[in-house]
Amino acid sequence: MKTRSGAYILLVRVRREVTVRIGRLGRYHFASGNYVYVGSAMAGLDARVKRHLRHSKKLKWHIDYLLGKSLVVGAALFPSKKRNECKIARRVAAHPGSLIVPGFGCSDCDCVGHLFFLGKKPFGGLLKRLDKKEKKKKTIHRKAGKG
Ligand SMILES: [Zn+2]
Repeated sequence: MKTRSGAYILLVRVRREVTVRIGRLGRYHFASGNYVYVGSAMAGLDARVKRHLRHSKKLKWHIDYLLGKSLVVGAALFPSKKRNECKIARRVAAHPGSLIVPGFGCSDCDCVGHLFFLGKKPFGGLLKRLDKKEKKKKTIHRKAGKG
């Protein structure tokens, strides 16, 4: 198992609007559409993303609560020795049409949020933008079926 560090994004699809209790954050309402979550793992980036792609697991991070009610359709890794998740979150925030979900996934930084709502916009445009600006190493497209 490689133990790279860095940031990752998860491409999340909410098929039907849903209200989810996100641990201590309380209840969040999610409209149907595409979402992008930016996270980091400073030890074991690949293992973290693999964990997010699994269906059953203990609920630990904010995103785990949402993933129980949605589908991860892909992920992209941005390996880095330094913390780069907030920089990537700012890039996603700057993408036209992306809306921040306030307070989500940013308990240890100053960002407004690390989850973004794209609505009906496809992920492709954002991935292209990140490709140009950041060194994206790998994009995972989730296979259908159980993970
Ligand atoms: Zn941040």
